[in-house]
Amino acid sequence: MHAMSTTSTPSHFAPGSSVAVLLPLPLGGAYDYLAAGQPLAAGDFVAVPLAGREVIGVVWGEGRGDIDAAKLRPVIRRLPARPLPEVSRGFIDWVARYTLALPGAVLKMAMSVPAALEPARPLMALRRAPAPPEFKDTPARRKVLEAMTALPPLAPADLAREAGVGPAVVKGLVEAGALEPVEMAPPPAFAAPDLTLSRAELSPGQQEAADILVAALDKGFAVTLIDGVTGSGKTEVYFEAVAEALAKGVQVLVLLPEIALSAQWLERFKRRFGVAPALWHSDLGDARRRETWRAVANGEAHVVVGARSALFLPFADLGLIVVDEEHDGAFKQEDHVSYHARDMAVVRGQLGGFPVVLASATPSLESLANVQAGRYGLVHLPDRHAGAVLPLIQTIDLRRHPPPRAHWLSPVLVEAMEEVFAAGEQAMLYLNRRGYAPLTLCRTCGHRLQCPHCTAWLVEHRSASRLICHHCGHHIRLPPKCPECEAEDSFAACGPGVERVAEEAAKLFPQARIAVMTSDTCSGPHAAAEFVRRVSDHEVDLLVGTQIVAKGYHFPMLTLVGVVDADLGLEGGDLRAGERTHQLLSQVAGRAGRAERPGRVFLQTYQPDHPVMRALRVGERDSFMAREADFRRDAGMPPFGRLAALILSGPDAAVLDGFARTLAKAAPHAQSIQILGPAPAPMALLRGKHRRRFLVQCGRTINLQALLRDWLAKVTAPRGVRVQVDVDPYSFF
Ligand code: ADP
Ligand code: ZN
Repeated sequence: MHAMSTTSTPSHFAPGSSVAVLLPLPLGGAYDYLAAGQPLAAGDFVAVPLAGREVIGVVWGEGRGDIDAAKLRPVIRRLPARPLPEVSRGFIDWVARYTLALPGAVLKMAMSVPAALEPARPLMALRRAPAPPEFKDTPARRKVLEAMTALPPLAPADLAREAGVGPAVVKGLVEAGALEPVEMAPPPAFAAPDLTLSRAELSPGQQEAADILVAALDKGFAVTLIDGVTGSGKTEVYFEAVAEALAKGVQVLVLLPEIALSAQWLERFKRRFGVAPALWHSDLGDARRRETWRAVANGEAHVVVGARSALFLPFADLGLIVVDEEHDGAFKQEDHVSYHARDMAVVRGQLGGFPVVLASATPSLESLANVQAGRYGLVHLPDRHAGAVLPLIQTIDLRRHPPPRAHWLSPVLVEAMEEVFAAGEQAMLYLNRRGYAPLTLCRTCGHRLQCPHCTAWLVEHRSASRLICHHCGHHIRLPPKCPECEAEDSFAACGPGVERVAEEAAKLFPQARIAVMTSDTCSGPHAAAEFVRRVSDHEVDLLVGTQIVAKGYHFPMLTLVGVVDADLGLEGGDLRAGERTHQLLSQVAGRAGRAERPGRVFLQTYQPDHPVMRALRVGERDSFMAREADFRRDAGMPPFGRLAALILSGPDAAVLDGFARTLAKAAPHAQSIQILGPAPAPMALLRGKHRRRFLVQCGRTINLQALLRDWLAKVTAPRGVRVQVDVDPYSFF
């Protein structure tokens, strides 16, 4: 990936000249308007007329001039917001070109808070009126007036609290004319980090790593991968780079895969820098969202910690990006604009001319390949901090040590759990399946309960007495009789979900305090933080959870991890199935034995000799990844070749197939380009829409984007048919 330099075009426009305005809408490109009233500059936010409405967009540059200037409609007004910086505009163009998204769709991500473009409403405070008219004096009123002699103007509620009176007293004084309102500038939304706090004493290895990251801050764009086992102090090390960047006065962005699950991380940040960072994620309230957007734009937010969408914030002066858990699949966005936040963070660093740090205990094959090719630097932290040892990972061969019928925990694992509980320690069972059972079938006729809108089984959630489709949310109660053969009470739950595993554990260990942690039981930052607190304070003996328990938590008393179905992620023909399973299970395993007490990990598997299981058992990540890389190189797959998916979807299967054939006929032919499909996508029906797929594969020397653009330009999709392009696809559903 190489960022292109932006060409220099005029950036100031006198009234009467034509300007191109990009709108945050799925349109072909920028539209021309007439600069009017006041001069405009590239990046200005402006309101323009569009089909009888007023829409806010951004001045993108000189008008394209394809419409007669006399016919151009004038810009309505310029908004009083800071202009969108040039580097942000360049980034939007870059992302649109790379992902084949419409530029307006990318701009929409950068303009997700239109209300922030209007000036912040001033705060109303109260002060004593200079010449108050006669008013009735009461002890409560006197208390307020006395309190005010020592206080600056305050908001009414604060004043009442300071004076120790009810709000009605303050209100009465205002009505009596004794107090008068004044406008105040809002206080800064984010306090500056404190760079003088004492930090952890780094080990020599950590210090060396930190020195490399700190030195990089003076050298412009460069990418450094911190490859360090779980618990080696990666966070501690990149905090040094964050501190140095802040000392230099630039803004810092830290991308985390799931902000809602990052309570422990935020605590550490506060301890290190004395303040909370600005957060950016989907659960932010409207007021906070506006405030944060403005603070990022005016430089008041020094450190932003966010989910992938934070990349599109209008930073005034960004000077460092850290992508923690860079291998995590949550960085890939699939809907609307499909992009990978790790890759786009690198592009953003290149356009901004500053360093990017990637951190992981299980780096992606892409990043490792970039290190090998010399494009990324590497710092390595091979040991856990303070001599904590890595957990011992063992496989349990389920063919030799099977659980009893309709049970899921092998006697070997149960015995280990007994020992852990007897020692007063904690255990965790991991199964990446929400609900009670993934499949419900009729024992009489074999009929399976399926979602009517998706190619998917309905998943029983016993706690909610429902069967739910995990793709579209469709849900039903368990029918009294089979819809196929009408047999009564004939349904059987097949296979385990976390609820069922927790039920089994509760029967085996009636004394154990068990908590189930999934996106169902633990949604939002507060619920997640409360879960983490309960486990940290040892109010829980056994934690049963989906992959959200794998995320970077540090529980000192957790010494046993049982993976209920280690083979789960290996199903299906996914390009990254092996890599991803290895990463996920390493992360899960990394939760065990993080402090003085050593940890043990058991992987229940039917394939103990699978390369993934072997690599985990003997701790040989590098040779495993090298082998995976060889496979991908031989197959011409990413990152050694280029890959894109085209997903066609629509309500009418016949229309869809007709269009798929048209597209196939127009497909480019060349020796070095392989086009697979059209074929029904693995999820051939999703939310009531049929889906067909093409996969396009080519060598790295070929401009995949240009090829796709030319191809798609040759055809027009019929009404109702949607074409989604996914460059560098990660999921193949
Ligand atoms: P990683 O990000 O590699 O998993 P962390 O930075 O989270 O590792 O460190 C793991 C634990 O060890 C944390 O509780 C952290 O506070 C502690 N730790 C790491 N390095 C040091 C150090 N130099 N001094 C004190 N504590 C440290
Ligand atoms: Zn469904």
